[in-house]
Amino acid sequence: MIQEIVGFIGLGNMGKPMAGHILNAGFKVVTFDIAGTVERAPEGATIATSAGDVAQQSTVIFLSLPTLKANADVVAEIAESDVSEDFVVVNTSTVGPTEAVAAHNRLRGKDIAYVDAPVSGGAFGAREGTLAVMFSGEENLFTRLEPLFAAFGVNSFNVGAEPGQGQRMKMVNNQVAISAVVTTSEAIAYGERGGLDMKMMLDVLNVSSGRNYSTEHLFPRFVLPGTHNSGGPTSIIRKDIALFIKEAKAEGCRYDLAESTLDVLKPFDDENPDSDQTEVYPFIRDD
Ligand code: NAD
Repeated sequence: MIQEIVGFIGLGNMGKPMAGHILNAGFKVVTFDIAGTVERAPEGATIATSAGDVAQQSTVIFLSLPTLKANADVVAEIAESDVSEDFVVVNTSTVGPTEAVAAHNRLRGKDIAYVDAPVSGGAFGAREGTLAVMFSGEENLFTRLEPLFAAFGVNSFNVGAEPGQGQRMKMVNNQVAISAVVTTSEAIAYGERGGLDMKMMLDVLNVSSGRNYSTEHLFPRFVLPGTHNSGGPTSIIRKDIALFIKEAKAEGCRYDLAESTLDVLKPFDDENPDSDQTEVYPFIRDD
């Protein structure tokens, strides 16, 4: 069995708590974040100076990066690094199947394994260690990585052998979840306009057929108390729904509702580049 040394690149809303859980599970963790590693690394982690430096010091490397460009840049740097035998790149970022296949092919040229492992459950799921992991790749790699996934997730699925299938599963989840942010906001705003109490509406919805992730988690935890700090930026859900549209369009699938969702998110994100996804609600209510 390989004694894993875990590299972690991208220590933001998701990456920092995930890296912390891996560390707490007893693994050595080597970290890097382009915006400053020392300030972001969990206590006890080793500080590296670049993505390539992380790759050279680890046996497995996790990516948690915000954009397709950041992912492509880091994958390119890893491909040029001198890595150990059996090294594997585990991408927990949401990048879509096309980008995942490109990363897989780029690394395969250097004999480096690449697997999808996008996650769901939000920043609070990352903090609480309750994420769902959507792995795709070879079964033996799933078996090898499961103890690491278990450090930050309660449900790990091997959704297929091909690169990109984990990302496809994540696209499926995101279309449903992100459309529901907008749908739920429209519905609750209509209810409030007519004098219904938000808490009462959530209580009814959560035992009725309108129940979803927004009604169960986002609204009670971050909209109702007015904190709007879910750790899921609007920019990230905008990127994710746009990715779904791009991928669905390329394959001749319908994306009508996803496009309506993007039409709502785009102007809000343009005007409020640092907003939390739960601020979509007051935007819709007051528009
Ligand atoms: P974030 O912006 O909070 O964190 C990303 C981190 O990556 C930042 O600290 C940034 O400085 C760093 N970074 C950017 N470019 C880099 C580079 N070239 N090298 C090293 N570090 C770099 O983003 P996040 O919310 O943590 O999301 C990370 C990924 O997880 C995204 O792909 C997102 O779609 C996915 N995701 C997010 C959530 C959520 O609720 N936030 C949920 C599920 C999945």
